[in-house]
Amino acid sequence: MQTSLLMQLLQALDDGQLKVVDLTTPLGPDTVVIDLPPIFASSPGVTITKISRYDSDGPGWYWNTINMGEHTGTHFDAPVHWITGKDLPQNTTDKIPPRKFIGPACVIDVSGDVSLFEDFLLTIERVEAWEASYGKVPAGAWVLLRTDWSKRKGRDAFLNVREDGAHSPGFHRTCSEWLAKERDVLGVGVETVGTDAGQAGTFDPPFPNHHFMHMNGKFGLASLVNLDQLPPTGAIVIAAPLKLVDGSGSPLRVLAITP
Ligand code: MN
Repeated sequence: MQTSLLMQLLQALDDGQLKVVDLTTPLGPDTVVIDLPPIFASSPGVTITKISRYDSDGPGWYWNTINMGEHTGTHFDAPVHWITGKDLPQNTTDKIPPRKFIGPACVIDVSGDVSLFEDFLLTIERVEAWEASYGKVPAGAWVLLRTDWSKRKGRDAFLNVREDGAHSPGFHRTCSEWLAKERDVLGVGVETVGTDAGQAGTFDPPFPNHHFMHMNGKFGLASLVNLDQLPPTGAIVIAAPLKLVDGSGSPLRVLAITP
């Protein structure tokens, strides 16, 4: 009998033709959460409280209670997260069709630019230059912005907040709108704490990547790691958020399968 496609996939994973790359950062009390200006409510850090650990509360078992915001650590942004996506169909974590949790990855490496300029913004022209080398970004792809930002150690270096706010890379507003409308991407993924640049609160519109992506029913992935282990094309990303009822997003395990 012919070996099925799925059995071939498993065989390729077993024999090393394909490998699994974990794009997820550890989730725990040290996980860095975004700071908003004090006039807004902020998201709590991760708290883990023991229910029992082989003790009088549960002599044979260990389990914890977890408490955190939906947008904590490596996490998924659903369209309903932003006001521009609030009235779209299937815009919450429990309603998004599961087929959309698997897509090809287009990895755009701007780490050299970001090492020179922390506020680097991806432009349409830069994506078109990438496409000249690797082909057009296909509909339904994740565009992953490799900045090497995830290699920054510690909260201060990662958030990089100065007197005038955070400084970290992201997307030019025209690029976000173009990726959503002209390339029909699944969404964008980044290594920073959120999918907008650190200074994006000062842009017009504010936080344009959230604004345009979610307006068009697209998703976001934040705080990714190991993007340097992915080829520019040829990997697929599996990113399935928790099926939270009416959820705006959730922490998740993001996996890539790469050649
Ligand atoms: Mn988020």
